[in-house]
Amino acid sequence: MSETTSFPTRLSGRAVCVAGLGVSGPPVARVLLAHGARVTVVDGRDDDATRRVAADLRVEGAEVELGAADVPPPGTDLVVTSPGWRPDSPLLVAAAEAGIEVIGDVELAWRLKPADQIWLAVTGTNGKTTTVRMLEAMLRAGGRDAIAVGNVGTPVIEAALPDEKGAYPGILAVELSSFQLHWSSSLRPHAAVVLNVAPDHLDWHGGLEPYAEAKGRIHAPGTIRVANTADEWSLRLAQAGDATTPLIGFALDTPRPGELGVVEDLLVDRAFVDDPLHSAEELATLGDVVPAVPHNVANALAAAALARSVGVAPGAVRAGLAAFAPEPHRIAHVATVGGVDYVDDSKATNPHAAAASLASYASVVWVAGGLLKGADVDALVRSAAPRLRGAVLIGQDRARLRAALETHAPDVPVVDIADTDGRSAMAEVVKSASELAREGDTVLLAPAAASMDMYTDYNARGDAFTEVVQGLDV
Ligand code: ADP
Repeated sequence: MSETTSFPTRLSGRAVCVAGLGVSGPPVARVLLAHGARVTVVDGRDDDATRRVAADLRVEGAEVELGAADVPPPGTDLVVTSPGWRPDSPLLVAAAEAGIEVIGDVELAWRLKPADQIWLAVTGTNGKTTTVRMLEAMLRAGGRDAIAVGNVGTPVIEAALPDEKGAYPGILAVELSSFQLHWSSSLRPHAAVVLNVAPDHLDWHGGLEPYAEAKGRIHAPGTIRVANTADEWSLRLAQAGDATTPLIGFALDTPRPGELGVVEDLLVDRAFVDDPLHSAEELATLGDVVPAVPHNVANALAAAALARSVGVAPGAVRAGLAAFAPEPHRIAHVATVGGVDYVDDSKATNPHAAAASLASYASVVWVAGGLLKGADVDALVRSAAPRLRGAVLIGQDRARLRAALETHAPDVPVVDIADTDGRSAMAEVVKSASELAREGDTVLLAPAAASMDMYTDYNARGDAFTEVVQGLDV
C-alpha cells in the first residue's frame, strides 16, 4: 500500500484478506469494513459453527471463503492474520513470497488507535492475564479511564477504537502473546514488561530463542522497560531494548535504586520517586496481594511498575490490589476438608507455571498430567520433589511424569489414573489425593499440561475438580 497517506485512509477501497475466523477474525473484519476496505475472510475449517459466523459476516459485507485457505485471494494488498496461524502456513508463506504485508490483530489495532491513547504492555510465559487485570484495577483506582485487553475479556481491536459516540479508553493494559508480537512491527507501548520466559509454544516459533525474541519486541523504541531481575530472559530482553529509556527492575527482595521490590511485608517503590538514591515509597503490604504466593507478588510488582510509569499514586496501587479478584482456575482455594486445602490451578498448563504453583506450598499432593506438548518435566519434578507428599497422574502424557517421579522422587507414592473420561477420572483423582493427603497438606491441581485430551479446556478441567471437591464431606 502507498505510504503517503495515513494508514486508516489507505484502507479505503483496498483488498484485505483476514486469515482465520477464530476469536480475533470477526472483530478484525468488522473494523476493516468500517474503514471501507474490501474484506475477504478465509479459514480452512468448514463446520457448522464456522458457517454461522461466516453467514453473519457476509451480511455485513465481507466475502468469506471456507475450506481452502492456501493462497491469498488475487489482488490482496494486506493480510491480517489470526495470531494462532503459524508463519509457515501456506497462505502466509504465499503472501510473503508475493511481497504482501502480513500483520496481526494487535498491529492493526495499533495503527488505527487514536494517537493519544496510551498502551501499557505485558507479555511473558505466565502471569499475563493476572498482571493486566491487576494493572487495570490500579489504573481505575487512580481515576484513569483504563481497560485490560487480551485473552480474557475484550479483544484489543475492539477496545482500542472509538465507539459510536467517539469515546475510547485513555489507557489500555494490553496482554500480548508471543504470536501477536511476532506479527507486530510498529507497536510503541509507553511502558512494557516481559514477566518471564520459559519453554512454551516452541513448535510455533521454532525454538526458545525465536520465542524469546518475539517477546522482546515489546521493548520498542521509546518504551520504558520493566524487567523481572530474577528472570534471566526478562532482564536480557529489556537490556536489549532502547537504551535511552529507563530500565526499571522488580524482584521479591530489597529494591535497589531504580527498582521495585519487597522489604519485610511491604511492596516498595524505589524507582518512581523523587530521589531513588535516598527515598522509597510504600505501595502496599503482602496481605493486599491475593493470593499472596511469591509469583503473584511478582505479578503485582510488575503491574505496579507499569501503573507508576503513568503517575498512578501509591494509594491507588494498594486500592487496585484490594479491588482485584483473580480470574477462575488460577490458584483458586476451593475448600478445606479434614485440615487439607484443595487448590485449583488448572491454568498451570506448562511446567514453568506448575513450578511456581508447587513452590507456593510446603507439602503437596500434586494432581498433574494431560498433554505436555513436548515439554521437559525433569527439572520441574526435581525441584518439586522435596515438597511432594504424593502425586496423582491423569491424561495422555502421564507416563512421562511417572518416569520423572521415579527418577527424582522415588519415595513419593504415585497413583496412576487410566480412566480417560474427564468426569469419572476426576472423581478418582480427588478420592486418591484425599487418601494420600495428611492434615496441613495442600491438594494442588497444577497439571503442567494442556487439558484437551480429556476436557474442552482448562476451565472444564478446573470445574470438574471443583465440583468433586465441593462434594467431599467436610
Ligand atoms: P497467562 O495469561 O500468561 O497464561 P495467568 O495470569 O492466566 O497467565 O496465569 C496462568 C498460570 O501461570 C497460573 O495459573 C499460575 O499457575 C502461573 N503463574 C501466574 N503468574 C506467574 C508468574 N509470574 N510466574 C510463574 N507462573 C505464574
